[in-house]
Amino acid sequence: MIVRHAESPCPSCAQTLDGVGSHAGHLPRVTDYSFCIHCGTVLVFTSVSPVAYRVATPDEVQAFRASVAGRRVLEDYQALRRIESMKSVFIDREGSA
Ligand SMILES: [Zn+2]
Repeated sequence: MIVRHAESPCPSCAQTLDGVGSHAGHLPRVTDYSFCIHCGTVLVFTSVSPVAYRVATPDEVQAFRASVAGRRVLEDYQALRRIESMKSVFIDREGSA
């Protein structure tokens, strides 16, 4: 579920954030984790109306990385970065990888 919100800057890279994805299917709560898709920084909600974030502490980053949902987000982000780093992709139609 994607929840759109009023534009709020990432506290790390200042890029605009205007939505959050939730595997849990509910709106974020203060102290929930978030993740900047622009710079890869782990964030924490400090307000949900309006939405505001702070950069997670090192202990919070460690907890995020140790969680199932956090690992999934990081894997998705790394896959996205690999795709974005490819200027083009060559597919051999003869079937060899
Ligand atoms: Zn950012």
